[in-house]
Amino acid sequence: MSYFIVRVDWDKCILCESCELVCPTSAIIINPCSNEEIKLYPSLCTGCQACLRSCPTEAIYCVESVG
Ligand code: SF4
Ligand code: SF4
Repeated sequence: MSYFIVRVDWDKCILCESCELVCPTSAIIINPCSNEEIKLYPSLCTGCQACLRSCPTEAIYCVESVG
């Protein structure tokens, strides 16, 4: 079975938090204290793409995952 999960292009991300706010399943968590400022939880992601639509810099993109 394949499904889509999101990834972040760190060079484009401005840490605006829009993606975290719109995600209905809390699959994206902004954590400024961590080395990886945005944490993605693929197991929680439903592929709804709300985060992609909310991102002002087009930093989020979808990849196909198999599993
Ligand atoms: S695709 Fe939907 S569920 Fe997945 S991280 Fe983005 S907003 Fe959250
Ligand atoms: S919406 Fe885009 S720019 Fe804003 S924190 Fe998320 S990935 Fe970064």
